[in-house]
Amino acid sequence: MFKPEFCPNPECQYHVLNTKICQHRWYSMDGFYISRVYGKVQRFKCKYCKHRFSEQTFSLNYYVKKPVNYKTILEGVISTSSISDLSRKIKVSPHTIINREKRLAAQAVAIHSRLIPFISINEPIVCDGFQSVVTNFYFPNNINIAVGQRSQFFYCLTYAQIKRAGRLNFEQQKKKIRYEKLHYINPNEIENSFSELIESIIQIFSKKKNSKLILFTDKKLEYIQALKKSCTLDNYKKTHQFSHVQISSKEPRTINNPLFPVNYMDRQFRKDLSEHVVKSICFGRNVNNQLERMVIYRFYHNFIKDYRTRNNSNTCHSDIAGIPTKLKMYYLNRFFSKKFFTTQIQQLYTDQKILNRAYITPMQKEYHKGKDKNTDSIAKIA
Ligand SMILES: [Zn+2]
Repeated sequence: MFKPEFCPNPECQYHVLNTKICQHRWYSMDGFYISRVYGKVQRFKCKYCKHRFSEQTFSLNYYVKKPVNYKTILEGVISTSSISDLSRKIKVSPHTIINREKRLAAQAVAIHSRLIPFISINEPIVCDGFQSVVTNFYFPNNINIAVGQRSQFFYCLTYAQIKRAGRLNFEQQKKKIRYEKLHYINPNEIENSFSELIESIIQIFSKKKNSKLILFTDKKLEYIQALKKSCTLDNYKKTHQFSHVQISSKEPRTINNPLFPVNYMDRQFRKDLSEHVVKSICFGRNVNNQLERMVIYRFYHNFIKDYRTRNNSNTCHSDIAGIPTKLKMYYLNRFFSKKFFTTQIQQLYTDQKILNRAYITPMQKEYHKGKDKNTDSIAKIA
């Protein structure tokens, strides 16, 4: 019979995992309810906070009216299936697919947060901005990524909306100006977003003892500015525990290039994620949804995908980073069924921002203000 391991209420003292505090009977049985999908479901009540919950509260399918196969969604996301593709394949609405991607993203962040404290490898971190678009070609973005140089473990990511550059004809120029009037783009976005990336890297490194932080980037000025301004780096700088190595992005993109890990990730995104494929007609329509898919991809890359596919070594990127395989398997075996509570572990600041859906999607605010009126205005511009 199912026994709850902790109280699902984040405010409750029994919302802790695997500690002696939860050894005694802190909950009472609270009858059943009948679900059309799951049949008879046991209910419980916390004796301390009086919070009521059921067996379903701990399932990844909480509040779900139509269960879908999460593995199919994951396989679709990492192999260029768009939301429409998946909705046709699974026979559910696109809205349901977006909802399940959201759940998978929360699972992916939880497993990442739980396992990064176990990383034992000391390696330089390579950072770069991966360029893609959201909404349409007038809203390019930079997804800043941090990847381990030896393990190619994908540590963290942040987002920056940037202005469209390059040669434009007269009509395109006019459209660009009108779009930029509708959605303001901060010229310091890359610098700010890189600062957030640095904060998250330090958050990971602060748990390691005596490890030197070596950062490899290309020669982008925004990176230098962000590193100069970072106060949290001061301790590392004072004790000579920090160094920044800049490599020209014009260097050949070979395996010997120190920026190889980010160049490699760029290639993976371009071939695996439908919205990032070159000349793709599948646009990400919402920044937060795009980043959730990125977080799902990070989970797949770190914990499932082989380190070098051709070697048949059965070693994934997290193994090279030093995360114990048994621990990884413990979480992987629960990934598609048990809901991980993100409130039980501290997440990286940048992941928290993604889960809180804190990024603004261009044109979306205008769209929601008055649906009909603004749909027309978008259609006219497009
Ligand atoms: Zn409680």
